[in-house]
Formats: sequence, structure tokens, C-alpha cells
Amino acid sequence: MREILIAGNWKLNGSKQSVAELVEAVANGIESVNCDVAVCAPHVYIPLASELLKASKLHLGAQDVSEHESGAYTGEVSAKMLLDFNCRYGLVGHSERRSYHQESDEQVANKFNALKQVSIIPVLCVGETLDERDQGITQAVVNRQILAVIDKCGIESLSGSVIAYEPVWAIGTGRTATPEQAQEVHADIRALLAKYDKAIASETQVLYGGSMNPANAASLLAMPDIDGGLIGGASLKSGDFLAICQAA
Ligand code: PEP
Repeated sequence: MREILIAGNWKLNGSKQSVAELVEAVANGIESVNCDVAVCAPHVYIPLASELLKASKLHLGAQDVSEHESGAYTGEVSAKMLLDFNCRYGLVGHSERRSYHQESDEQVANKFNALKQVSIIPVLCVGETLDERDQGITQAVVNRQILAVIDKCGIESLSGSVIAYEPVWAIGTGRTATPEQAQEVHADIRALLAKYDKAIASETQVLYGGSMNPANAASLLAMPDIDGGLIGGASLKSGDFLAICQAA
């Protein structure tokens, strides 16, 4: 039985004060929810969030990680540094990193590997653009993004890892994939993993991301292969984020 995971991605938002308020509100609000909950904070607020979360069941995640362990890589943050502050999760391959920072499938696989090396759970983000969906190549794109990780790190690396299917056309647009559209891709992802390892395919959490909100969360989360959500905009409002956690 797969656990449900609801993870917030705060992106480039927040201040010392708003992060403290949001962490406190979410940590208090999830006491009675029945799923795993995490928030992915901007790197600079990870020490603050880590301190505030100490006695809470709310988990901490990072939005990105360096593919390098250490050295002359100005501005980068390593997996080991994230581990120092008790990050449990790390996003890799978010579409905003792939498109605005030209991250290749290979770099994403290296980042995935960097997190695995220190036992931080990678959340591998995959998804097609609207143009790719219109061309009918959604499955080919998603498979390519996942296969880059399998080729680099092996199918075993997906054991205990998380995949987030995020159609790029649904991120931050208010336009959500229908539960059926999302379920279809989630089932395809599981079928791809099953070709390599059936146990890993059935245990891997596959989250949906893309304008998930309190109004659509329950119907998306009711789908058999949707094991949670990666939430952007709605994770910045504690009330909305908690409503999604409650829907799970
Ligand atoms: C995201 O960026 O991962 C995301 C899902 O954003 P939003 O919920 O705002 O679409």
C-alpha cells in the first residue's frame, strides 16, 4: 500500500517572517492528517525551516541541488549540505529548472544520483509541454526523462524515490489535467517501471503536480495511480495547502 505524499513547492517566494508563519501554520494543521506532508523551501530558508520543524511531523525538502559534491561551483548547494539541515526530500528536474536553466536529462539524472548518495529522497519531476501533448508524444517525453535516470543510476535507484508527473501546461496556469488525463500518464509511468522491476513499479509514489487546489484535489487523489501532489501556488496559503492535505 503506497502512502500519500503532499509536498509544497514554495519556489522563489517568502521572507523570514512569512516562512516562519507558514511553517508554523502547516505544522500545527497537519497533526490530524493521514498522509506524509513536506514543504520545499528556498535554500536560504532551509536552516530556519529545519529549526522550526524539529518537533513536527512536517518534512523538509529542497527545490534543487548541485550535481557536484563540492568544489569550484559558485552559488551551488550540495546534497550533503541539505542533509546537514535534515532535508528529507529534494526536487530534481522541475520544468522551471529544465526550461529556464536548460537542465538536460543527464544533469537531472546526476542531481538525482547526488541526492541518492546521501539518502535524501529525490522527487523526480517529469512532464510534457502543451506542444508535446498536441503532437501526441506525452508518453515518449515522460519515458525519456525517466529512462535518463534509470540509465544513469539503475532501476534500483527508484526504490524509495518519488516521481512527480507535472504537465508543463498545467503548472501555475490554473489549468489542471483532468483526473483521467493524469491517471493515464501515471499508469504509463508505472507500466514503464514494471518493465524493469514489478515491485519497484508498485511501490513507487507517483505524485501529480499542476494547479492542484482544494477544489480539484479530491478527484485527482481518488485515481488509483495518483499517490499525492506536488503543489506550487496553493502551498503558499496555509489554508489551501491544509485543505489539500485533508482531501488526501
Ligand atoms: C509546481 O510548480 O510544481 C506546481 C505544481 O505549481 P502549481 O501548483 O502552481 O501549478
